[in-house]
Amino acid sequence: MFEKVLIANRGEVALRIHRACREMGIRTVAVHSEADANAMHVRLADEAVCIGPARSTDSYLNKSAIISAALITGADAIHPGYGFLSENADFAEMVEEHGITFIGPTADQMRLMGDKITARQAAIKAGLPVTPGSPALESVEHAIEWAHKIGYPVIVKAKDGGGGKGMKTAFNDEEMREAFTMAKAEAKASFPSDVVYMEKYLQKPRHIEMQILADKYGHVVHLGERDCSIQRKNQKLIEESPSPALNDKQRKEIGDIVRKAIEQIGYTNAGTLEFLYEDGKFYFLEMNTRLQVEHPITEAVSGIDIVREQIRIASGAELGYTQDDIKFSGHAIECRINAENPETFTPCPGKVTEWHAPGGLGVRVDSEIYSGYSIPPFYDSMIAKLIVSGKTRNATLMRLRRALEEFVIEGVPNTIPLHQEIISQAEFIDGQYNIHWLENYMKNRHK
Ligand code: ADP
Repeated sequence: MFEKVLIANRGEVALRIHRACREMGIRTVAVHSEADANAMHVRLADEAVCIGPARSTDSYLNKSAIISAALITGADAIHPGYGFLSENADFAEMVEEHGITFIGPTADQMRLMGDKITARQAAIKAGLPVTPGSPALESVEHAIEWAHKIGYPVIVKAKDGGGGKGMKTAFNDEEMREAFTMAKAEAKASFPSDVVYMEKYLQKPRHIEMQILADKYGHVVHLGERDCSIQRKNQKLIEESPSPALNDKQRKEIGDIVRKAIEQIGYTNAGTLEFLYEDGKFYFLEMNTRLQVEHPITEAVSGIDIVREQIRIASGAELGYTQDDIKFSGHAIECRINAENPETFTPCPGKVTEWHAPGGLGVRVDSEIYSGYSIPPFYDSMIAKLIVSGKTRNATLMRLRRALEEFVIEGVPNTIPLHQEIISQAEFIDGQYNIHWLENYMKNRHK
């Protein structure tokens, strides 16, 4: 097992990884930007190294600074968390070239599954259902030709896309001209490549994703699904497991398909296969080759510590259990609490003057915030994850309501009031929602 792990991230996920390491008797190295000198992950880690100025490109995305920090401190592995360099195959390769273990899949697996076009091809080959889609689009004319083949509406996407960026829908040729140009421009500004492709646009799907774990010896398990349909701007806000839309038979069916696909692709470590689910059918969207923000709800219902498993797998350990050993119990819901205007969703960084996190049975808060902490304006606006679990979905909803009531965050506007509102809507309570529900709800309530 590793003796020292460098955590190449910040915020709550850096803390999450630190906690798993400490529980495994592993020492931790935090890296931080100049703006994060007072951050909680820096305070808790055994050692800390400043890797550059506030801007992520100069610090958390600075590959050589991070690898130098690992070499200087003698770390034998690097955990990339999510975001930043977590899906950067070149970084994973560089880490390994320096004799350090990258806690995640191999660079080749990341390249294959991180590119949405090659991932779709691999998915088709591995027997996963996908939405009808196009190859890389060369021009507006080419895009229109494919849109006619697939049939409107379609969605144009960046092959390297992420975070809901670079996606544009089109319902006719005229819209397609604009969608193609805009998606390409957004991709150029945000991602390594401006290559775009298109998929059939589903109009009322749920977003359901499957968590998998795979060791280096071909053993694969799935840890069930997460329903992440409560979204705004194509980004998740509330997630739950199990999905109110699936029964045990459907769960087993998609679970078996996913396990076989992962075995065939030869993927290792933790990963998530994202699907859209409409009218009883699954359509593969993309694979995330890293830990996900919403992983704790899976931990709550499966009893498996996903970060610990990532570290074990990377160190060469066998899973040591099979699918039949995994028993799901109860229900879990996560609310992402962001420091932002709950109406417009614009980030509102600032000083947290009062902070009181809820507690009690079945309540978990993953956050880097403490009273008096100033949220820097340079990074993501998520400041806490509230994860609540209970025996049934109803009991979990009651507990979530109670936990949100207890939560005190003063000094910065945040999404707690919005969460309280969402979870008291009849459609949410009944589990009757799709990926458009939240945006439609917000549009209509202002009428
Ligand atoms: P990203 O990598 O940017 O997160 P994804 O491909 O995972 O992009 O899609 C994010 C979200 O965008 C989905 O959860 C869904 O809400 C919406 N979306 C993506 N593809 C489609 C599609 N073909 N039809 C309808 N909605 C889609």
